[in-house]
Amino acid sequence: MGSEDPQNRQLHGFFFPLMAYGHMIPMFDIARMFASRGVKATIITTPANASTFSKATERDRLLNLDINIQILQFPTEEAGLPEGCENMNDLDGLDTIHAFFKAVNMLQQPLERLFEDYQPDFIVADFVLHWATESAAKFGIPRFVFHGTNIFWQCVEHSLDCYKPFEDIASDTETFVVPGLPDKIEMTRSQVPDHFKVETPFIEMVQQIKDSEVKSYGVLVNSFYELEPAYADYYRDIMGRRAWQIGPVSLRNKNTIDKAQRGKQSAIDEHYVLNWLDSKEPNSVLYICFGSTSRMNNAQLLEIAMALEDQKFSFIWVIRTTQNSDEKSFLPACFEENMKEKGLIIREWAPQVLILGHPSIGGFMTHCGWNSTLEGVTAGVPMITWPLFAEQLHNENLVTQVLKTGIRVGTQKWNQWFETEDASTKKDEIEKAINRLMGDGEEAKEMRSKAKELGELARKAVEEGGSSNAEFTSLLEELRLYINVR
Ligand code: UDP
Repeated sequence: MGSEDPQNRQLHGFFFPLMAYGHMIPMFDIARMFASRGVKATIITTPANASTFSKATERDRLLNLDINIQILQFPTEEAGLPEGCENMNDLDGLDTIHAFFKAVNMLQQPLERLFEDYQPDFIVADFVLHWATESAAKFGIPRFVFHGTNIFWQCVEHSLDCYKPFEDIASDTETFVVPGLPDKIEMTRSQVPDHFKVETPFIEMVQQIKDSEVKSYGVLVNSFYELEPAYADYYRDIMGRRAWQIGPVSLRNKNTIDKAQRGKQSAIDEHYVLNWLDSKEPNSVLYICFGSTSRMNNAQLLEIAMALEDQKFSFIWVIRTTQNSDEKSFLPACFEENMKEKGLIIREWAPQVLILGHPSIGGFMTHCGWNSTLEGVTAGVPMITWPLFAEQLHNENLVTQVLKTGIRVGTQKWNQWFETEDASTKKDEIEKAINRLMGDGEEAKEMRSKAKELGELARKAVEEGGSSNAEFTSLLEELRLYINVR
């Protein structure tokens, strides 16, 4: 290393996502973005998760990208987890989540051994890995936080934390305005996360995450400036954080194979789906998917199925049932046979980005996980927002109250866990939302046109001269400077 010109020395970054698809998928895209700018990118993961990245990594290496995977053993047994349980997808209840995070926290020392062995120049680590800031500091390298979500969410949580506007509200359903934000954002007490209102086992971790973020070098955000400009400014000026908006990172996937193989193996051949979509009119198909982790109960799925039967639009529905349920039993009699012309059902995992990018898709019913929401924005489609857990209610508020490209359905109650007992969203409400979104009414046309504009802005942001592209370049320049004068 001594004889290398420090200005031209190749940078080496570690990329360490939490082991959950909604975290691994965008972090991997980010690692590939760095690799495509000449950085050596090392993805840190555990044995059972490595296959998520291996095929794309092999393809990238054939294109001379310096990208590789480092495996850390996941201490399942020590943490009291069942063997092979290495992904949040494998968890079967709130009890196991504590054991899972215990195992995750036990990765701090193995990570430090990797720092010792490989001496990377920086690390991008998931926000949940709060100890990564301290570990990076021990080795004198910058740690970047990756939340996997938008800046709007951070601003709303900051305001809730500072002003606690929900404390003076008598009922769970009465609305209040979140103070101090650039837009009038309304919430109800039931939408406010539990950790603001009651003691939860997660309070300590939430605080550790906040502290580590403040001490970190900065935050990488999978969004783009034009999507939430006032919130990006608020985050910088009011909250005093440094952030680089470098998304939408899904646009890193340019060819069919990269788009189709994001995350898990799809349950359906991608060419079959594309042919099916080719046979439909532009903007005529509703895509329905609730993310990688959440599972609805059979009663709620039945309401969706009945709504789909009665409405007239074509649809693709990705079905994930609750663990151990008899998968088909919730469907109305002969549902699949009857829906053959109109609908395509995909079980467990669909090539989402590929589907959303097809011109026949005219709407997206989503649980508002941030990746899905942004993928919908990027595809230029309006949404039916149906948040299920964690920060998804905030993402819904961004879509419905700020961007105004969505219609909400579902309960308006914050939920910690990704399996829901709730089945209160009835067929009629779902059907009405589909007709409003997919129909020809003024409201639908307006949302469609706003969504198209945002999709354009998203694509421009990552192109040469676009905002995300420029922020990414300036981040790389700053990193080089920082590392050379260190
Ligand atoms: N995804 C997919 N196919 C599926 C379900 C999910 O490709 O059938 C991808 C989706 O494109 C997104 C990620 O998985 O990139 C899900 O992340 P998100 O933040 O939307 O939700 P989460 O799964 O974390 O709840």
